[in-house]
Amino acid sequence: MRDENCIFCRIANGEIPSKTLYEDEEFRVILDLQPATRGHALILPKEHHRNLYDLPDETASRVMVLAKRMAVRMKDKLNCHGFNLIQNNGEAAGQTVFHFHLHLIPRYENDGQTLGWKPVESTEGELEEVKDIIIG
Ligand code: AMP
Ligand code: ZN
Repeated sequence: MRDENCIFCRIANGEIPSKTLYEDEEFRVILDLQPATRGHALILPKEHHRNLYDLPDETASRVMVLAKRMAVRMKDKLNCHGFNLIQNNGEAAGQTVFHFHLHLIPRYENDGQTLGWKPVESTEGELEEVKDIIIG
């Protein structure tokens, strides 16, 4: 299903032009308009799924295969020193466009980006409690 009001549906399906790196029946890979680093790209499924929770298993599995292929190619072509895959779900996680997408972010030594988190100390009890919640 596609959503006429969704900008990534329109980009993925070619209604809005983009800097396309790869396209097949199911996906389009484009350069991010406001890149974190040189070569920052997005994998967009052509079908509309709001986020990872809604993504069909088959799409989820194919998106990772495509991410791997793109990362290998981009590493060779861009000579980047590292690579981050980032995927945001929900406003609290920084999602701004509510059509599933996976960020492909080449990293360069001293690129000035700080993608990551601040580690917080936890206790044995807290870890045990959250483990039980998740698996329970
Ligand atoms: P997120 O915060 O994970 O939802 O990421 C949305 C990303 O989409 C951001 O990195 C934006 O720079 C990027 N973006 C938004 N609109 C466009 C567009 N028209 N073309 C390419 N990238 C876009
Ligand atoms: Zn969409």
